[in-house]
Amino acid sequence: MIEARGLTKRYGDRVAVDDISFTVRPGAVTGFLGPNGAGKSTTMRMILGLARPSAGTVTIDGRRFVDGPSPLTQAGALLDAKGVHPGRSAYHHLAALAATHGIPKRRILEVIDLTGLSAVADRRVGGFSLGMGQRLGIAAALLGDPQVLILDEPVNGLDPEGVRWVRTLARHYAGEGRTVFLSSHLMSEVALTADHVIVIGRGRILADASVAELVGDPKEATRVRTTRPADLAALLGRDGVSISSEAPGVLEITGADAATIAAEAASAGIVLLELTPLASTLEDAYLALTRDEVEYRSDARMAEEATR
Ligand code: ADP
Repeated sequence: MIEARGLTKRYGDRVAVDDISFTVRPGAVTGFLGPNGAGKSTTMRMILGLARPSAGTVTIDGRRFVDGPSPLTQAGALLDAKGVHPGRSAYHHLAALAATHGIPKRRILEVIDLTGLSAVADRRVGGFSLGMGQRLGIAAALLGDPQVLILDEPVNGLDPEGVRWVRTLARHYAGEGRTVFLSSHLMSEVALTADHVIVIGRGRILADASVAELVGDPKEATRVRTTRPADLAALLGRDGVSISSEAPGVLEITGADAATIAAEAASAGIVLLELTPLASTLEDAYLALTRDEVEYRSDARMAEEATR
């Protein structure tokens, strides 16, 4: 379990993490989402004792990470997959880490196998692709068989098979009752992998909820395909109903539910080719939450440049 209370990090007069409190529970995958510059990496670095909080505390299973006698078995982390000596082989990188904790060779070979690195274990890490580097970073995180896994953008650079593998791994570890905390900017990936999501923007928590709660609000829109879009739009055109068209013959209707649309279309003899209630996605929920929190909005920046 990871517990942050009043956690704050200031760099000069810039507040990177602003008095946040949250709990990451065992037995679940918790996703950590937010725009660039929101404070995700800074928070993860504070959890691991790589950055010192300006105020507040953060503990892993009740104590500060740096106070633990055996950090690799307490928490495994992937923060920056490039933080590896390029001249070392994957095997020797893991062996050096293992030596600090008396972890046996058997376990090194196990994580090499588990992360699909067997064929390249003797190659210099400097020649690794981004995806292979990520796998090595995950191998290092798993080495101590930790109860807590902290992964910063773990699927970065992985191919679809690798992405699925990370998802299965995260779910497997959570299923064993461990704590899995992973950041990602890939909303669809987090929706598939995480049970719970913490969304952060400009250093503050915007949402701390289950994925089901966040995407629970139906969008209340229905996509309709018909051969007579103009007639259907005229039929339904009344106060409270809004109709937009994204493609020829396709309408997105809010303010009238699917049953009402079907009944009115039938009574007017309008044939419907498709009638789909649209569910809101985690991406919709995320974009709604972070709309005002993005550090640099492309449109805002363009407007600023235009007025210079
Ligand atoms: P994220 O991981 O969500 O993209 P970060 O935690 O990297 O966000 O950054 C949060 C804010 O803190 C940003 O405004 C960033 O510029 C600032 N920041 C991060 N690290 C430092 C540092 N070492 N010195 C100064 N500012 C920093």
